[in-house]
Parts: sequence; C-alpha cells; structure tokens
Amino acid sequence: MKLNQKNIDILRSKLVPKQSNFIGNKDFTPLSEKVLEVISPIDGKVFSTIAASETEDVDHAVTFARKTFNSGVWANMPPKERKVILLKWADLIEINALRIAVLGVRDNGTEIKMAIKGEPKTAADVIRFYAEAIDKINGEITPTSHEVLSLIQKEPVGVVGIILPWNFPLMVGAWKIAPALAAGNSVVLKPSENASLSLIEITKLAAEAGLPPGVLNVITGEGHVGQALATHMEVDVIAFTGSGSVGRKLLKYSARSNMKRVYLELGGKSPNIVFADAPDLDRAARDTAQSIFRNSGQVCVSASRLIIEEPIYEDFLNAVAQHASSLVVGDPLNLKNTTGSMANINQLEKTINAVVKAKEQGARLVTGGKRLHHESGGYYHEPTIFADVKSEMDISQQEIFGPVLAARSFESEEQAYNVANETIYGLSSVIWTSNLSRAHRSIKAIRSGTAQVNCYSGADITSPLGGHKQSGSGHDRSLYAFDKYINLKSSWINIGS
Ligand code: NAD
Repeated sequence: MKLNQKNIDILRSKLVPKQSNFIGNKDFTPLSEKVLEVISPIDGKVFSTIAASETEDVDHAVTFARKTFNSGVWANMPPKERKVILLKWADLIEINALRIAVLGVRDNGTEIKMAIKGEPKTAADVIRFYAEAIDKINGEITPTSHEVLSLIQKEPVGVVGIILPWNFPLMVGAWKIAPALAAGNSVVLKPSENASLSLIEITKLAAEAGLPPGVLNVITGEGHVGQALATHMEVDVIAFTGSGSVGRKLLKYSARSNMKRVYLELGGKSPNIVFADAPDLDRAARDTAQSIFRNSGQVCVSASRLIIEEPIYEDFLNAVAQHASSLVVGDPLNLKNTTGSMANINQLEKTINAVVKAKEQGARLVTGGKRLHHESGGYYHEPTIFADVKSEMDISQQEIFGPVLAARSFESEEQAYNVANETIYGLSSVIWTSNLSRAHRSIKAIRSGTAQVNCYSGADITSPLGGHKQSGSGHDRSLYAFDKYINLKSSWINIGS
C-alpha cells in the first residue's frame, strides 16, 4: 500500500482486536486472562487491549524458548536456511509496512512519515543486514605451537530476554532481535506496555516466514513482566533499552538470579555545540530543530542541550526558534502535520512539569511552553526552547524525553567541552565547525558513544550505537551487536604424536 492520506484513513478506521501473548507461534491468553487497555495518544481513547501477563506466563514463554533452543531446531539449522527465513521475514514486514506503521502510530503517536521510514522499513533493513551476516561470520584458529590446534568457536548464548521502550519499538526491537536470532538464539520479547501492537504484528509475520515455533515469543504487560524475565534462571542474556532507573534494577536482578549478562541502552542529555565558523549555519539551525523536535523529542539521541559560541548566540537561537515555530504539531496520521503527539500521558506530564521547573529556576522561555489540542483528548506539546540555562538547572541535567531544548552560550572551546561533559550521560554529541582539527579534538574531548560532525543523522546500521557513562553498556547496530548474543568457546587440541 502506498503512503497517502486515503490509505492511512482506511487503515486507521480498522478495529484492532484484543491481543494475546504470542508463544510457540500461537496466540496465548495469559493464565489470569487479565488485560491492559491500549490508549491512543492521538485522542486519549482506548482502541484495543493487550495481555496483562504474570510471572507464570513469563515462565511458560521462557520454558518454551529453552526447549526450542535445546532441540537445535533453529540453533543447528544450516546457516543459509536460517538466512532465507529471516530475509523472507524482512520482505513480509516491508510488504505490510504501511499497515504496521499506522498501527504503531495509533499506539505511540510518532508522525507517520517518520514512523513508516524509521519503523517497519528500518526494521526490515536491519533484519536483512543480520540475515546476510549469518553465513559470513567465521570462528578463528589462534597461532599456537605445532603440536596444538587452538580453536575459537562462536556459539549462541541460549535464551535472550529483550525488554523494549515505547519509542521506535520496531527499529530498536530489530536492533536486538535480528542479531540475537541470526546468532541462533531463542528470544522472549517484552515490549513496552505503551507500544506492543506493532511488535506482536511483526512476530506473527516471522512465524509466517517460517521461523520455527518457540524461537521468537512475545509476552506483554507492565514492568513486573520484565522483572520476571530478568530474574528467570533460564534466561542467559537481557538486552534492554529504556530508562536508567530500570537499567539499574536489571543489574540487581541479574546479581540476585543467575548473573546473566545485561546490556543497557539508556537515556541521554546530548550536547549540540555550534561554533561561529560552522560551514552552513542555516542547515545547522534546521538540523538543530529537527534533532530535538522530531517525534516530539522522544528520541534517545536527541540533542537536547544547545551550546552556542557567544558571537552568534542570539542570531542562531532566533533561527532555531523560527524553525521550531514552523512545525505543525497535530494528529500524527494527518500527512499535513510535521510533528505528532507525545506517546502517553506520563510523558506529556513530565514535559509540562519540566517546563514549569525551568521557568521557576530562571531559564528564559524563547518559544513554546504549552500543551496543544487539549480538546482532542490527545497528548500534544509545543516545540519549546529555553535560553540562558545554567549548569545547575534541572533542564541542563535531567533527560526530559520531550520537545524541550535548553540553550546557552560559551566563550572558549575548552568551556564548550566542559559543559558538554557535565551530565551523567554520554550517548551522543553533535558539533558544527569548519575547523577540521577542532572537529577531531571535539570527538576526543566529549565523552559520548557517538559523535556527529556538521550533520545530525543518527547514522545507520553499519555503525555501532552504545552509551558511555550512565547511557549504557554494549552496542546495538553493526557486527559488534553479535558480541551480546554469542559465547566464545576456546578449544585446545593436542595434535602432537
Ligand atoms: P522504561 O525504562 O520506563 O521502560 C522500558 C521497559 O522496561 C518497558 O518495557 C517497561 O515495561 C520495562 N520495565 C519497567 N519496569 C521494569 C522492571 N522493574 N523490570 C524490568 N522491566 C521493567 O523506559 P521508557 O519510558 O519505555 O523509554 C524511555 C527511555 O528509553 C528514555 O530514557 C530513553 O532515553 C531510553 N531510550 C534509549 C535508547 C538508546 O538506544 N540508548 C533508545 C530509545 C529509548
């Protein structure tokens, strides 16, 4: 189906039936038969339900995944056959892209143009990337003496538990599911209670593509479902994207259970440094607005702190403010709108509270600052910019995960890097300059997992994404992602006479 308003309107009018867990390639009603209402952030109305699972349901899913793994039906399938199944899965996602994207937008409010590209289409690309790698990753032979053969083999870890957030569930999900499956593992997936529908949908497509029962299972519900997964003795690895507070708990759960490996992709408060010698200040202003206001700021690598060189401070701020006020916030399924809604009422309230606090603490409001379209029942907020922020203000330190930009000026390069590094986070950074040496200095000086120079793009599947400091551990994307889902096995074989 083509991306046009008529098709979107047809798809959004469809009823979404009650959803179950999906275990062993079958719908599976939770033992308690309890459900959670799915509320659309577009209008605040309930439009479906998901299973409210309990610990026993998690146990059932993990046991199924473990049995499947031990049977070798997937782990021992010839690599090129696994590749064919994953490639078919990617094709099915692509064929159904608009249907899946509209469903996801009804669940989490991302503007449809961004959702279709960033969600099903990216997920399909990511799955293809790892599918293609399946039969190209070799073991190794180490250089030992003549009498010994020393092998390094790469084995799947077993059962991987994946716990996801509500922003970009398919993209972030595919970053983890695809390499975990490509490496031969079985997966139990716990989507966010605020964005489960599109993930359930693509899991059903995986079954249709030929993934054997029990290899990819979905179990929905609130945080305690993730807790049951992370404390389960038969889960070997937890791969998580979400908040630092939950990440901290996952480390404790691991210590209290089987010391499973835990990989965390957490939050950020990423700096965007604009030097007066930036090659194209107009582009820098446009990308700066994009970097914080797309998906209403609900992007982990949003550049939420703008640090501008003093001589261009007011002019650049005004240019970004102009871009911000040209954005049209509204129904994310209306192609005329450039920006959708916040994902849920908690996110909206968190943003509203952060705005109040920033004013109380003395930041200068440049544009925005208000809830929008209250009458629709949906969760919309104006793109908002504060200037003259100080290091000690909450707006400089705490991740809001909303459309709020905190701007300030700097006088020296050293000061800019000190400000960039003064939070607990280290996810991403952006720098604008024509000075090549300075660009390289900034990459070294700023403690972040990714650095972007004279662009804001988010990069692609070939480059790893991971946090420094309290933004996480381990990497999604690129071939490095396999490290999370494999065990190295060393064998030392005496071949002397
Ligand atoms: P969250 O931490 O509230 O929830 C994430 C998941 O954890 C959900 O599925 C939730 O049900 C589950 N959960 C909650 N309590 C749990 C518990 N006690 N044990 C186990 N699981 C539990 O995060 P969110 O609000 O869904 O997402 C927003 C956060 O995600 C932001 O901080 C954002 O920066 C981060 N994020 C990071 C990246 C990245 O790549 N670094 C990408 C996207 C989002």
